[in-house]
Amino acid sequence: MKRFLTAASLGLFCMAAPFAFAQDKHTHAAHSHGVGSLELSVQGGKVSGSFEIPMESLLGHEHLPRTEAQKKAMANLQSGLASADYFMALPAAAQCKQISLKASSSMFEGKKSEHSDLDIDVAFECAQPAALTELRIALFAKHPRLKSLKVDMVGPKGQKSLSLTAKDPVLRF
Ligand SMILES: [Zn+2]
Repeated sequence: MKRFLTAASLGLFCMAAPFAFAQDKHTHAAHSHGVGSLELSVQGGKVSGSFEIPMESLLGHEHLPRTEAQKKAMANLQSGLASADYFMALPAAAQCKQISLKASSSMFEGKKSEHSDLDIDVAFECAQPAALTELRIALFAKHPRLKSLKVDMVGPKGQKSLSLTAKDPVLRF
């Protein structure tokens, strides 16, 4: 996980250290509470995505859980993340099969840090690529502290960058 040099002001906004470790394949955007990022690739029937979401947006804190309620909330998050349905949905008609999913966070490992992200790497293979027309982000409804998701995507129509929000949680390819 990345480490942060400073915490700016009240923790409402904070910047990641201006470097990324070479072994980490995510490109680190600024760590800003309420704002997540997604790098998505849709090529034929293959869909792969890398999410990076501040834990504050999911749990309301980035210190290790202290109370029973905080411990339970983190356990629920971790078990929810076993299935991609928890955070995203592809059209049923595309007949996508989740082929890999890895969700990690320094908090899940019990490591103390000033800031923490959830990193998700997920991949699907879809039997009906023609039906792969959109992706819905399910996290907004479950975690209202998450306000937006910055998306960089490479898809059937080339590259694009945009932001999704709770009001507009659907990315159309
Ligand atoms: Zn933070």
